[in-house]
Amino acid sequence: MTDSLEVEPIARRLAAVRARIEAAARRAGRDPAGVRLIAVTKGVPAGRIREAVAAGLTAFGENRVQELVSKARELAGQRDGVSGPVAWHMIGHLQRNKVRHVVPVAAMLHSLDSLQLAVDLDRYLGRLGRRLPVLVEVNTSGEPTKWGVPPGDAEALVRAASALPSLEVAGLMTVGPYTSDEGAVRASFRLLRELLTRIKEAGAAGDGFAELSMGMSADFDLAIEEGATMVRIGTAIFGPRP
Ligand SMILES: *Cc1c(COP(=O)(O)O)cnc(C)c1O
Repeated sequence: MTDSLEVEPIARRLAAVRARIEAAARRAGRDPAGVRLIAVTKGVPAGRIREAVAAGLTAFGENRVQELVSKARELAGQRDGVSGPVAWHMIGHLQRNKVRHVVPVAAMLHSLDSLQLAVDLDRYLGRLGRRLPVLVEVNTSGEPTKWGVPPGDAEALVRAASALPSLEVAGLMTVGPYTSDEGAVRASFRLLRELLTRIKEAGAAGDGFAELSMGMSADFDLAIEEGATMVRIGTAIFGPRP
C-alpha cells in the first residue's frame, strides 16, 4: 500500500497540499498568497526534485549541509520545463565550521541559533560582499532535543544579529512539538507569533522583520491558522522518507 503512495505523482500530492494551505488561510481570514511553501527535500533524490520543479515548486529546504550543497549544484543545470531558478533554504542546525559551504548556495537560513554563528556568517558574507536573509530559530516547546534559542533569548539575538551589516534578520522560525495534542502545537506557534510582534514593537529589528517559518506536514494547517508566512513541507509532497 505504501508502494503506491510512494510513486504517486508529485503534482497530485502538491495540489492536495496547496488546497490545504488555501483552506487554512481562508479559515483564518488570510490571503493564501501570504504563505510561501518550502518543499523539504531531505532524503529525496534529484530526479524527484526535478519532478517537483516541473510541477511548479521553486523553493526547497534541506537540513544537512552536504545534501544542500550537492542538490543545489545538481539542480543548477536544470532546464526543461523550468521557469527561472530555484532557491535553496537551509532549515537545519548549522555548525560554524560549515558556514563557508552554505553561504554560496543558500537563499535564506532559517536556523540562526547563536550570536557566534551570526558573527561568523556576517564575517564570511562581508568578504563576499553579500547579504543573507536569516530567521532566528526559537525553541517554543522547550523540548530538550530541539535546536533554537529559548523564547526569552530571542529578542537579544535578533537585536545583536540585526546590528551586523551582512545579515538581514527577516523573522523567526520554530519546529512545533512532536505531539498529537493540538492545543500544545497551537500554543507553540502562537508563542512564535507573539514573540515576533513583541520584538518588532521593542524596535529590536528592522522593517523587514515579518516572517514566521512554522508548520511541517503534520501541523502546517494549524501553523497557517496561527500566522505562518512560510511552511516547510516534506513528506506530504514527496511521500514517506526511506
Ligand atoms: C524535515 C523537516 C521538515 C519537513 O518535515 P515533514 O514532516 O517531512 O514535512 C521541516 N522543517 C525541518 C526543520 C525539518 O528538518
